[in-house]
Amino acid sequence: YHPDSQSISYTTLTRFQPVKLLSPPERKRILVTGGAGFVGSHLVDRLMLLGHEVTVIDNFFTGSKTTVSHWIGHPNFEMVRHDVVEPFMIECDQIYHLACPASPPHYQFNAVKTLKTSFMGTLNMLGLAKRTKARFLITSTSEIYGDPEVHPQNEEYWGHVNPIGPRACYDEGKRVAETLTYGYHRQDGVDVRVARIFNTYGPRMNPADGRVVSNFIMQALRGEDMTVYGDGSQTRSFQYVHDLIDGLIALMNSNETRPVNIGNGDEFTIGDFAKLVRETVRKVKKEDDGVDVPLVNIIQKPIPTDDPQKRRPDTTRAKEVLGWQPKWSVEMGLEEMVRYYKAKLAEGSL
Ligand code: NAD
Ligand code: UDP
Ligand code: UDP
Repeated sequence: YHPDSQSISYTTLTRFQPVKLLSPPERKRILVTGGAGFVGSHLVDRLMLLGHEVTVIDNFFTGSKTTVSHWIGHPNFEMVRHDVVEPFMIECDQIYHLACPASPPHYQFNAVKTLKTSFMGTLNMLGLAKRTKARFLITSTSEIYGDPEVHPQNEEYWGHVNPIGPRACYDEGKRVAETLTYGYHRQDGVDVRVARIFNTYGPRMNPADGRVVSNFIMQALRGEDMTVYGDGSQTRSFQYVHDLIDGLIALMNSNETRPVNIGNGDEFTIGDFAKLVRETVRKVKKEDDGVDVPLVNIIQKPIPTDDPQKRRPDTTRAKEVLGWQPKWSVEMGLEEMVRYYKAKLAEGSL
C-alpha cells in the first residue's frame, strides 16, 4: 500500500496523528459497508491509521476501488465486492453501515434499488449485528427531516417528507432504515448508533455526482456558468468530511443510542454559496498559479421537485454527549477541495 499516494495527499492526513498499532481489545474487527464511497474511504483511512482490522464491502455503484486502493496489500485490510441487498457472513466487532447512494441523481437513477438497499441492506446488516453481537452504526441523513417546518432541525423533530415524490426513495428509505434499527435494538438488544448526517463535502467526492459543492467548484474551475437551481434562496449548511469522520468515530465509541445530528451549523443561501465558491476558485488560482481569472457567470436553472427550502443542524446533542463540534470552516474546507479538483484536472484524471 502507498500511504503517500496521490489519492490521499490532499486529505491532510498529517493533521491527525497516526497512533501505534492497537492490540485487542482496543483493536477491533470493523466492517464498513459502502467503504469505497466518498465518506467511506475517509472513514477507512482513519480506522486503518488507528490500527483496526477493516473489511470493506461495496458493490461499486457510486464508489470506486481507487478510493481505498492505497490500502490493498496491508495485512489489516480487505475489500469484497458485495451487494448488501444479499446476506453477508463475517465475524466482526463493529459495523459502520454506509452503503447507499447519496446524491439525488444517483439515488433517483433506480429508485426501487435505492429502497431495496436501504431496507434489505439494513436488514441484512442488522441480522449480522444480531448474530455477531457487533455494535451497529447507520449513516442516516438530514433528509429524514424532509422540507422542514422547524429551523434549525434537532433530533426530536419528526420531519416533513413527501412519501411519493422523487426524493422519497432516499428519504423514506432512510426513515425505514432507522425504524428497522430501533426495531432490532428493542426486540433483539442490538447495540445501535444512528448518525443523521447533514450535507458533507471534501476530496474524493465524485465531481460528476451532481451535488452542489462538486458542481459549483468544477464549473468555476472550468470557467463555465455556475448553475443555481431556483432563485438561490434555499439554504444548506456544509460540513467538511474530516469533521464528519471525527463525529462518526466518536458516536460509535460513545454510549449514545439515540439519533445524533452531525453537521456544520454555518448556513448559506445557495446563491451566496455560489459567490463564495467563485471567489475561492479565483483566490486559489491567484495564489497557486499567479493567474487572475475573470469571475464566471452565475445562471439560474429550474428548481428540482421537493427541494428543501431550509436546512441547518442543531448539533447541541453531539456537543453534549460526544464533546464533538466541527473544526473546519467552510472557507478552509472549500480551499482544500478546490486544490484537490484542480490537481486532478491538471493530471487529467477527471
Ligand atoms: P457515495 O455514493 O460516495 O458512497 C456510497 C457507497 O455505497 C458507494 O461506494 C456505493 O458503491 C456503495 N453502495 C451503494 N449501494 C450499495 C449496495 N446495494 N451494496 C453495497 N454497496 C453499495 O455516498 P457518500 O456521500 O459517501 O455517502 C455515504 C453514506 O452517508 C450514505 O449512507 C449516505 O446516505 C450518508 N450521507 C451522506 C451525506 C453526504 O453529504 N455525503 C449526507 C447524509 C448522509
Ligand atoms: N443475515 C446476514 N448475515 C448474518 C446474519 C443474518 O446477512 O450473519 C441476514 C439474514 O439472511 C436475514 C437478515 O440478516 O435476511 C435478518 O436476520 P435475522 O436473523 O434477524 O432474521 P431471520 O433470518 O430470522 O429472518
Ligand atoms: N443545487 C444548485 N446547483 C447545482 C446543484 C445543486 O443550486 O448545480 C442546489 C439544490 O437544488 C439544493 C442544494 O443546491 O437546493 C443542495 O443540493 P445537493 O444535491 O448538493 O444536496 P441536497 O439537495 O440533497 O441537500
